[in-house]
Amino acid sequence: MTTMNAMDRAAPALDVAALDARLQTASPLEIIAAGLDAFPGRIAAVSSFGTESAVLLHMIAQLDKATPVLFLDTGHLFEETLAYRDTLAEQLGLTNVQTFSPDPAALAAQDADSSLWAENPDACCALRKVEPLARALGPYAAWINGRKRYQAATRTAIPFVEQDGARVKFNPLAAMGRDDLLAYMDAHALPRHPLEKHGFASIGCMPCTTRVKPGEDPRAGRWRGKAKTECGIHFGDGI
Ligand code: SF4
Repeated sequence: MTTMNAMDRAAPALDVAALDARLQTASPLEIIAAGLDAFPGRIAAVSSFGTESAVLLHMIAQLDKATPVLFLDTGHLFEETLAYRDTLAEQLGLTNVQTFSPDPAALAAQDADSSLWAENPDACCALRKVEPLARALGPYAAWINGRKRYQAATRTAIPFVEQDGARVKFNPLAAMGRDDLLAYMDAHALPRHPLEKHGFASIGCMPCTTRVKPGEDPRAGRWRGKAKTECGIHFGDGI
């Protein structure tokens, strides 16, 4: 007998390509609203609480402050990021920010001395980001993230809506540029990540984040000196 898991039972008959096409002229807020409408109770946002995260979170808060916001604490984050998470959540009135961490047993087995990032960053990201995010997204059929096309050469073709394995992924900020984001944050007086003023344009884990020089790609400070540019998951501005 064939059994169906919760995801199969919950999966809507959604034409992802058609929805993406329909949203081509929609605003970011309208794209988020379309996601919330299409997956009531079965969609979460994922945020790194990085330098641009306030924009997406502010939009979500306008629509539904109880939207689940999933945050990964890799164990290597800056203290400032954890403080910024709390500041933003309180200021925006977000009531369902959930923090996920790496599995303690897996950490003990694979990275007991916390040096895996130096020896094998792909394995470190798999342990500290990919697995916890997969666990965090387990109950959901869709997710919203903050990636933008302008951020890097690897992100220039991001659609507004895409199939991501078993889930549908919404990228409502895909078409926004850096100036749009800054204008939005100014217009809404949103608090800025405390490390931004110290030259950090894209903030992830402490060992793998460096300051960015004027004129550099915003993500140039990530895994500097290594071929690595992505961690295997796609949050938006910090991961
Ligand atoms: S960004 Fe660096 S420290 Fe963070 S999980 Fe990836 S390799 Fe590890």
